[in-house]
Amino acid sequence: MHIAIDGPSGAGKSTVAKALAREMNCIYLDTGAMYRTVGLLATRLGVDTHDDKALAKMLKNAKIEVKLLPEGQHMLLNGEDVEGLIRNETIAMAASDVAVCPSVRKILVDIQRAIAEENDVVMDGRDIGTHVLPNAEYKFFVTASPEVRAKRRYDQLIKNGQEADYEQVLTDVKNRDYQDTHRAESPLQVAEDAVEVNTDGLTIEEEVSLLMAMTGQLLG
Ligand code: C5P
Repeated sequence: MHIAIDGPSGAGKSTVAKALAREMNCIYLDTGAMYRTVGLLATRLGVDTHDDKALAKMLKNAKIEVKLLPEGQHMLLNGEDVEGLIRNETIAMAASDVAVCPSVRKILVDIQRAIAEENDVVMDGRDIGTHVLPNAEYKFFVTASPEVRAKRRYDQLIKNGQEADYEQVLTDVKNRDYQDTHRAESPLQVAEDAVEVNTDGLTIEEEVSLLMAMTGQLLG
């Protein structure tokens, strides 16, 4: 069983994906965390996040691993648990930069497909339904307006005790949207056979209920 959930940042994909995974007895794979880990490594080493060759070389000497724990996924970078270091706006933008590079995408997509071969999985990202798992049984494209997504992200940052400026978060969201939809390699787009869900005006709880209901209907 493979379920693909794609969409732009802040659309609530991960909350929905986690809930679906629990319901369907699947593992949950957050592929964005993998790009964030590569972004973190490049930032740490001072490698240009736009330089495909340099990033490929960097990854030859690095070990990127996904640890699937009952309480959720943790990213390991050369054995170090970096989960607490990848959830900020600087790393989000670095992730979006490295995600443009074909070598990075190939390495991470290979890992994602290997996990899917061994497991029933709900996978969220940008290219899951279009590229990583084109034969997934269920595909959702979850979206919301940039303003709604920026507000959700802003609230989350404040809740986590981080400093945030709404206008800046909105600009970041729009920049990432632009970069993710305009890149040559696996751009963010709706798979032909995906069910598109606009979540403007829905709380995360309502969003989860809606997708659960839709999956139930799809399951028949
Ligand atoms: O989902 P998240 O916001 O954590 O993803 C961070 C960045 O990683 C995205 O902006 C996108 O550029 C990239 N990404 C991607 N393909 C995926 C998942 C994430 O290009 N499957």
